[in-house]
Amino acid sequence: RLIDLECFLLSGLKAHGTVAPEIAFMIGERSRSVIEYPVGGSGAIVDALVRGLQRWGGVLRLGTPVEQILVKSGTATGVRLQNGEIIHAPIVISNATIWDTYTKLLRPEDVPEADRKIALSTPAIDSFMHLHLGIKAEGIEGLTGHHVVVHDSNVDITVPGNTCMISIPTVWDANLAPPGHHAIHAYTLEPYAGWEYGEFYQEKKRSRAQSLFQALEKIIPDVRSRIVLESIGTPLTHARFLRRYQGTYGPAIAAGTGTFPGPKTAIKGLYRVGDSTMPGIGIPAVAASGILCANTLVNPDLTAQFL
Ligand SMILES: Cc1cc2nc3c(=O)[nH]c(=O)nc-3n(C[C@H](O)[C@H](O)[C@H](O)COP(=O)(O)OP(=O)(O)OC[C@H]3O[C@@H](n4cnc5c(N)ncnc54)[C@H](O)[C@@H]3O)c2cc1C
Repeated sequence: RLIDLECFLLSGLKAHGTVAPEIAFMIGERSRSVIEYPVGGSGAIVDALVRGLQRWGGVLRLGTPVEQILVKSGTATGVRLQNGEIIHAPIVISNATIWDTYTKLLRPEDVPEADRKIALSTPAIDSFMHLHLGIKAEGIEGLTGHHVVVHDSNVDITVPGNTCMISIPTVWDANLAPPGHHAIHAYTLEPYAGWEYGEFYQEKKRSRAQSLFQALEKIIPDVRSRIVLESIGTPLTHARFLRRYQGTYGPAIAAGTGTFPGPKTAIKGLYRVGDSTMPGIGIPAVAASGILCANTLVNPDLTAQFL
């Protein structure tokens, strides 16, 4: 059950469905390092990656969504941004999901039919309900930062609402909230289907977040009376802010039924990285997908010189 839970938390599938490279990469990392927390929050990791990018002349442009990957005679030639600007490039690497890349960023006529069919038929893991809270910290003793609450051990861990993940980063880094407060993020799986903005959205949102509140009450019994800031996210929020097809956690490619594709595509000059590619979902895995792509494009000896 523990390995089922660990696999589920990482891949969205239990042990029998999780591909070996994904779990191997994570457990391999764990055996070489201690589990720590970045001072400054997860944003500090992003900042470090951006520093690395800029050190080698790279430029990160935020708030400039790509509208289309440009393809001419089966070869990628660059991208057109939503603001109309065209960037010409001999190599384009898409970090968007398989569905977003093949159905939104590429025109149907530019994609070999077989690839489009694979993209459209790839099963997606559900999305999430999110609960973000700011709470008064006074009087809370011995709080730890990570919790996984399984409400009912007789119910499958993958059933939406049953397994709730909780992070309280201010346990390690008090600067992430005003003095005397904790920041909390809790989330659980939630299907995208059935969600729409409209009359009943707010009510449904509150109702579907209850399993998260109940999970939190197991850690901090009086959490509801401590709340100073509350923000609930739904699959629509996840899809919108992360630009992900149906707000999905990623592809549900179960071991034995298929394999995550590598970085190459049928379009010359177009490569793919991220959680729709080998080795799969999770930060270590997507970092590995970037390494695989870099090694595909550049001789590994040359890459090593830059490290
Ligand atoms: C709630 C939650 C908790 C998680 N916890 C963990 C954990 O504890 N450990 C772990 O290892 N993994 C965890 N994961 C999984 C991990 O976060 C993901 O697998 C990983 O972030 C995926 O990275 P990615 O780069 O493939 O995709 P993303 O992080 O989705 O990045 C894709 C980027 O592409 C951008 N984009 C999309 N379309 C366009 C466009 N048209 N133009 C420009 N930009 C575009 C998006 O805005 C986004 O920034 C968690 C995921 C979630 C949702």
